[in-house]
Amino acid sequence: MIVFQDEDGAIICSIPSKSGGGMYLVRVYSSANQMVVEHTCPANQFKTACSHIEQAVGIWKMLHPWEFYPWMPQKEIICARKHVVLRPHWKQIMGKGAGTDATEYSRDR
Ligand SMILES: [Zn+2]
Repeated sequence: MIVFQDEDGAIICSIPSKSGGGMYLVRVYSSANQMVVEHTCPANQFKTACSHIEQAVGIWKMLHPWEFYPWMPQKEIICARKHVVLRPHWKQIMGKGAGTDATEYSRDR
């Protein structure tokens, strides 16, 4: 999974579809007591819980563990149907190639 961060501090997870036909982009951000998950997919069109939300929330928790300490307010997960479009200025923070500096690499060789 490739994870991006946008200028608002939200994270966007790129999750391959089960059929292998493409990617779902799922955007997550949190406020004091809410986590908002935005995406569209066939499952959530019918108000069915889908694994994308679970996966995106899991990534957020991994990157922001302090927000989930037992003494922190419990967050309500809000799912919004919103089509997320990949933007060129998003910063890739996880996934294949993350954390490698290509310029550094070419200088060594
Ligand atoms: Zn979904």
